[in-house]
Amino acid sequence: MDQTIADILEFVEENDVKFIRLAYCDLFGIQKNMAIMAGQLKKAFEEGIIFDASAVKGFQTVEHSDLFLVPDGSTVTILPWRPSHERVMRICCNVKNPDGTDFEGYSRNILKKAVQRSVDMGYICNIGTECEFYLFKTDEAGEPTTEPFDHGGYNDIAPLDKCENIRREICLAIEEMGLLPESSHHERGPGQNEVDFRYSDALSAADNFITFKMVVKSIAAQNGLYASFLPKPLHQESGNGLHINLSLSQGGKNLFQRGDKHSANAESFIAGILARSTEMAAFLNPLTNSYSRLGSFEAPKYVTWSHQNRSQLIRIPASTEERTRMEMRAADPACNPYLAFALLIHAGLDGIEQKARLLPPDNRNLFEVDDPMLPALPHSLEQALQLAENSSFVHRALPEPIVEKYIAEKKRECASCRSAADRQAFELARYFH
Ligand code: GLU
Ligand code: MG
Ligand code: MG
Repeated sequence: MDQTIADILEFVEENDVKFIRLAYCDLFGIQKNMAIMAGQLKKAFEEGIIFDASAVKGFQTVEHSDLFLVPDGSTVTILPWRPSHERVMRICCNVKNPDGTDFEGYSRNILKKAVQRSVDMGYICNIGTECEFYLFKTDEAGEPTTEPFDHGGYNDIAPLDKCENIRREICLAIEEMGLLPESSHHERGPGQNEVDFRYSDALSAADNFITFKMVVKSIAAQNGLYASFLPKPLHQESGNGLHINLSLSQGGKNLFQRGDKHSANAESFIAGILARSTEMAAFLNPLTNSYSRLGSFEAPKYVTWSHQNRSQLIRIPASTEERTRMEMRAADPACNPYLAFALLIHAGLDGIEQKARLLPPDNRNLFEVDDPMLPALPHSLEQALQLAENSSFVHRALPEPIVEKYIAEKKRECASCRSAADRQAFELARYFH
């Protein structure tokens, strides 16, 4: 709910809030924050708080290093795991240039533009994420190990499931923060879990996903554990997927509802996403490690769709009414959700504009089929980057400086990985901390 600045300042005053975390993400979706004391909040709203953008990945160079954080008053929340007196509040921020204009390189603004395009075309796009993560033990120094916290599997119960209390704490914390948790379970891998919360408009869904990762990491750490969102932390086990559920509504009616006379547009939306899914893979699956996940343990490999079939890239789950949606199964939790959602929305809307035709579903179990005729997702980050670089769609959907910086940084990552003697050890050293 949008609150006026005066309401927020009053809330801070009356609720013993002492610290305000001004939160934003770097180009790669890593959350950052700058804490200000409560007395500075009015100034933050009015003028913004200056920060060194040259120290943030994918932002600015030292020659143009001043940017400003301006809080978005609709995203206020208390951090429930911090002390209950002299409390800590978190607000997602916009990033602005010194002249007050929006900073073009900020991915949250890119998603806002994609949302605006859908509104201009008459659609509201809702998004719900389902995010998986592993819980690992830590060593005496508090550093993460690769030893899972338990040996449980899908939907297992205690005592095999040792993660129940962590999931409980996560549900309670996100509920206090306004995320509306709906279900939670032990996932297929040892120590692997999933906590699902309610869908929302696309921008809130991206903010919520970032919030969710922070909550999971913080609560795991408080319990002496390490939460990993790495797409494939254990090579012989299930990977961590980020299923992105999208629906479109027009005049309050969900276009994905079957039997709806507008469903041709929903089909074109899906066709548009399928058409661009290899080109946007570098953004949905951003790590070298991402490509170890695809093609097994219910993670897709081919560019196909179906109804309830979990071996496909896009699935239309059996839910009915307002919850009818498409589920994009390729993405993983290492992605920057603002860029990923923006690309998905643009691809889908292009599909509607072009009246793209959806091919018939593929109902085979694609984990048991090796079909060289089927279009496949890229098999490595290098290949994905090449596809993104050559994609007129990616260059249209994202501002040029973003594409350049993103691809350059990711190419450096590929080069370091290639030159490492042991790729798995390289990935763990780089992403486990
Ligand atoms: N863990 C699987 C993945 O990597 C998804 C399993 C599921 O359908 O929940 O995408
Ligand atoms: Mg799952
Ligand atoms: Mg799912």
